[in-house]
Amino acid sequence: MNNNFRIYNTASRQVETIVPNEAGKIAMYTCGPTVYHYAHIGNIRTYIMQDALVKALEYVGYDVKRVMNITDVGHLSSDGDTGEDKMVKGAQRENKTVMEIAKYYTDAFFNDFDAVGNKRPDVIEPATNCIPEFIHMVEVLLEKGYAYLAGGNVYFDTSKLDDYYVFSSAVEKEALQIGVRDDVEADDNKKNATDFVLWFTKSKFEDQALKWDSPWGVGYPGWHIECSCISMKHLGEYMDIHCGGVDNIFPHHTNEIAQSEAYLGHKWCNYWFHSNHLNDQSGKMSKSKGAVLTVSVLKDKGYNPLVYRFFCLQSHYRKPLVFSYENLDNTVAAYNKLVKKIAELKNDGTKDDAVVAAYHDKFADCITDDLNTSNAITLLYEVLKDGCSDATKLAVIADFDRVLSLDLINAATASKEEATEVDSELEAYVLDAIARRANAKKAKDFATADAIRDELLNKGIEIKDTREGVQWKKL
Ligand code: AMP
Ligand code: ZN
Repeated sequence: MNNNFRIYNTASRQVETIVPNEAGKIAMYTCGPTVYHYAHIGNIRTYIMQDALVKALEYVGYDVKRVMNITDVGHLSSDGDTGEDKMVKGAQRENKTVMEIAKYYTDAFFNDFDAVGNKRPDVIEPATNCIPEFIHMVEVLLEKGYAYLAGGNVYFDTSKLDDYYVFSSAVEKEALQIGVRDDVEADDNKKNATDFVLWFTKSKFEDQALKWDSPWGVGYPGWHIECSCISMKHLGEYMDIHCGGVDNIFPHHTNEIAQSEAYLGHKWCNYWFHSNHLNDQSGKMSKSKGAVLTVSVLKDKGYNPLVYRFFCLQSHYRKPLVFSYENLDNTVAAYNKLVKKIAELKNDGTKDDAVVAAYHDKFADCITDDLNTSNAITLLYEVLKDGCSDATKLAVIADFDRVLSLDLINAATASKEEATEVDSELEAYVLDAIARRANAKKAKDFATADAIRDELLNKGIEIKDTREGVQWKKL
């Protein structure tokens, strides 16, 4: 067990060593997808880096329990009764019911999620499964005086907290300003600008498709409540690591903390892991920006989804990453070269367990250093150059791939088989040409015999007449 796993904690704004609530165990929560549209490759970057985190923790000996929600209800683009309901908009766009939309895009999400080598979370819970839990939390928040009713909706009262801007007042206040600017319709029911809806009954969305009975009337939950409730349902009152993209910091995670800690009466989650965005050359990727670039689209264009994973792992999760086809093509070349090098290794020589263990520790040093996956990949190249036996190298590569999940050994075996197939096809062709040439010579048709020799030369094959018969080689 490596007890020195360091990650950047957005809550403390520094790199910290993880000290779990329960020794050897990590309780982790991931904000899941909003299933009103396809998850773009930016969303998938976030899930690849979280997957690397889970596998890195497991690599050094932690037992990780990971929970993820599926946002299949509501999800307004703002915290008040403003903005737009993305699920309803998706359903209207495609002439389907909200639940049909949710099912379709959940399946599409997992298709891409799996294709890039991610392991599914232990628990995956759609928000629509947990309405009674949401109602219970809202009731407790009202009882404790942290919430109020206004205009038919229940709001969380942020003025009741000593410290609402838990991450960084500067970052959050700036985000709030942007939010206020974008928000054309102010919500007059709110006592404070930062208050947010816990339960809606009076929405501007008259035709809201999914509604449930509640003590405050028929309605539906606010945006943030699901993550607090779903995590507590499966992980209990204390959580080690909460993950999301940087856009989740404010207001989503700030509000999750506000309501969770008000409800529990104690600190809730110790480490906040936020990965940075993938941008395209025109700026940030967005689900609502028209045509969505997905992993499936890349696959249709002939890209191996694991090459996209390799692309993501080569850069640090806290840095923004720019996507371009040129960058991806460079990664294709690098991945193929890497696989070819591994395919050249023969499973011979004895495996040196001490060398395997030493590399295991070096790899652990990289990934426990704030999940430095790019250094981990550099180490992989060092292994290939090492003087140790091929059997040792193959064992080390298989060990690293528990975290990298690039399917390196299988890809190398497949490329070897492909090369053998090509070789046997070539051999059959050359032997046939040699036989045709022998027949031509027998029939004294030297022009044809020479033409066959030239035909072979054009294909890069040289033949030689020897006393042992005709011999051939690739030039
Ligand atoms: P959503 O389905 O929109 O809630 O997003 C799913 C996850 O993707 C969230 O954790 C977001 O923080 C994250 N995300 C959104 N946009 C991007 C992006 N351009 N690059 C990386 N992650 C993103
Ligand atoms: Zn969340």
